[in-house]
Amino acid sequence: MKESYKAFTANDLEALQKICGVERVIPRECIGEDYSHDELAGIHNFPDVLVKAVSTQEISEIMKYASANNIPVTPRGSGTGLVGGSVALCGGIMLDLTLMNHFLELDEENMTLTLEPGVLLMDVGKYVEEAGLFYPPDPGEKTATIGGNINTNAGGMRAVKYGVTRDYVRGLEVVLPNGNIMELGGKVVKNSSGYSLKDIIVGSEGTLGIVTKAILRLLPLPKHKISLLVPFPDLPSAISAVPSVIRASSIPTAVEFMEREVILAAEEFLARKFPDNSSDAYLLLTYDGASKEELDIAWEEAANICLECGALDVFISNTQERNESIWSARGAFLEAIKASTSEMDECDVVVPRRHVAEFVLYSHALQKKHNIRIRSFGHAGDGNLHIYVLRDELDEKSWEEKLAAVFADLYSKADTLGGKVSGEHGIGYAKKPYLADSLSSDEKAVMAGIKAAFDPANILNPGKLF
Ligand SMILES: Cc1cc2nc3c(=O)[nH]c(=O)nc-3n(C[C@H](O)[C@H](O)[C@H](O)COP(=O)(O)OP(=O)(O)OC[C@H]3O[C@@H](n4cnc5c(N)ncnc54)[C@H](O)[C@@H]3O)c2cc1C
Repeated sequence: MKESYKAFTANDLEALQKICGVERVIPRECIGEDYSHDELAGIHNFPDVLVKAVSTQEISEIMKYASANNIPVTPRGSGTGLVGGSVALCGGIMLDLTLMNHFLELDEENMTLTLEPGVLLMDVGKYVEEAGLFYPPDPGEKTATIGGNINTNAGGMRAVKYGVTRDYVRGLEVVLPNGNIMELGGKVVKNSSGYSLKDIIVGSEGTLGIVTKAILRLLPLPKHKISLLVPFPDLPSAISAVPSVIRASSIPTAVEFMEREVILAAEEFLARKFPDNSSDAYLLLTYDGASKEELDIAWEEAANICLECGALDVFISNTQERNESIWSARGAFLEAIKASTSEMDECDVVVPRRHVAEFVLYSHALQKKHNIRIRSFGHAGDGNLHIYVLRDELDEKSWEEKLAAVFADLYSKADTLGGKVSGEHGIGYAKKPYLADSLSSDEKAVMAGIKAAFDPANILNPGKLF
């Protein structure tokens, strides 16, 4: 990286140890390899020091020190990101937020949950369900932190009906790069009080401030749930059913598409059979609701629509065991594809729903054009596709050239169809060139101005987004 920061010294280590104590300030030589990367292969760098913070006050003091001494700081949750967002590209301080993992208040009257950023997504669901409440965002990786989810505006399977993380963030406490502490939003349902700084922080990938507390909005817990696994002869007929399914009288919670070869990879990975693998393409639909009667109407209507659109059958999954077998396979797709190759990279574009089939078929055609394996699955209901380019036996040089060529084609096609560079994983380091290509000069100037207003010295997560 070109930015020049002060070299990290023994004096800096000592100053941080004065703020946090010796045990939670880990010098470079003792930092584990995991902290040099996230879940994206290929981007590695160690921070000079790893600090496991436990309070807002402590973070404020660390930021005051870092800003006075021109030391870069990289916030980090669980490191499950897929774009290199929590890699300390310029060294400096890595601020690990996973020890700030406490639930602070469940306010049942206001239906809000106040919590620290290091709470894991999988613990949020369990915690609120005990009170009959529901936190809808459902990204695939449940060991991610809420702070990471907020900073990437994580999406997930239930976005069709419930939206994404941003729709459930009511308030935030944020430490600015200069160490000042800001309270944004709150428990209010409506807010029309000037620019929404809270919404600028959501999805800002740790480049504007450090989220140290969040107030999340909750809903009543739907009591009933049903999934339908619908085989189709091919992908276009599967995807062609989606608009009618979504326009029907009940909104599905999730609409996922999957192809046979990805199901086979998941079966091998999990050493477990999927309920059916005989068809080329499938839709997986889920409905939830307050009563069984409501769900019966929903799934019967959806099943009829699918059959009219050429579905070969409709498998109903209304027991926990069956749901578990289908959704655990769906949850393993990414890991299964990863296990089937030596290295891979992902394109996480989002296109208008009606272009999903065209985009996936285009990605199939690229396999031939570039002589490389490409796999995909994704959220047919919200147009967010996950297209994986697989390295297999390619040497380093051919892999880099082919990957660049395939990505150039994919991002350019998404742009032509009115799509966006990232639907849910963010930009981080890996997708910077594609974001830069997709933004107008006015958009770039406004974004740079926002960054400068929050972080004039560019010490917070440098090298990301721009
Ligand atoms: C198998 C698998 C499946 C996945 N499925 C999905 C999916 O369905 N949907 C989806 O959206 N994502 C998915 N992801 C990606 C990833 O889980 C999300 O991006 C998640 O939000 C990252 O959370 P984290 O705690 O791991 O954050 P990290 O990876 O540690 O950090 C992510 C970004 O947030 C910043 N950050 C983290 N905490 C804070 C904080 N408190 N304050 C300021 N900045 C912070 C970091 O600097 C970084 O830029 C998946 C990943 C894997 C490996």
